[in-house]
Amino acid sequence: MCDPGIICFQHCQKKEKVFCFKFPDVCNFCNAQLSNVELRIPPFRIPYPFRDATKEFNCIVIKPTHGDFLNNYKNSSDLHIGVTDSAGYIYEYDVNGITKSKTQAWYQCLPIKVMDKMNSPLKIYWDEILHNVFDQNFWTIERYDSEEHNCYSFVLAFLRSLHLQELDPYLYNKTIFCQQFVSPQARIAAKYISLYRQLKVQNVIAQ
Ligand SMILES: [Zn+2]
Repeated sequence: MCDPGIICFQHCQKKEKVFCFKFPDVCNFCNAQLSNVELRIPPFRIPYPFRDATKEFNCIVIKPTHGDFLNNYKNSSDLHIGVTDSAGYIYEYDVNGITKSKTQAWYQCLPIKVMDKMNSPLKIYWDEILHNVFDQNFWTIERYDSEEHNCYSFVLAFLRSLHLQELDPYLYNKTIFCQQFVSPQARIAAKYISLYRQLKVQNVIAQ
């Protein structure tokens, strides 16, 4: 699934905004025809936060361990993390060991921007280091441990190997890394998911 197109606008409501998939003919709250009236906030589309990881280059990517964000995500504890290279291959470590692929399992990921800007030399460097860490023999099926040696271990080992001063303070452990980079993105995602799930059962919501 791609962008379901959540629309937001405000008519007569003073504080709440109205959310829907399809802009209604009539206001659900005051029954006014909406075609020719002035709106407090004209309709705009809520930015869809998810991306196809194969199109996010040189990026950290997260997704639910099972299923996708819109339908299956529960909380930050069930998130799986990977890294992409400059060609959109996703490198990830899980119970199946280390893999590099363009699997469709990542079609609805949340990109985590750890670098403000990526120039060409940095992209080449990123790819080289990623290949090196990928080739290390730490990332075997036998060594995998869901708590101690997991997808985050791989991503943090890669980011540490970049030796970038601006990143280093956040790579000490998973908790610090998540506070800095993952949680802010996960909160945006959670808001969108909540709207989406409510709109699947109600045509219009106000909040
Ligand atoms: Zn109204």
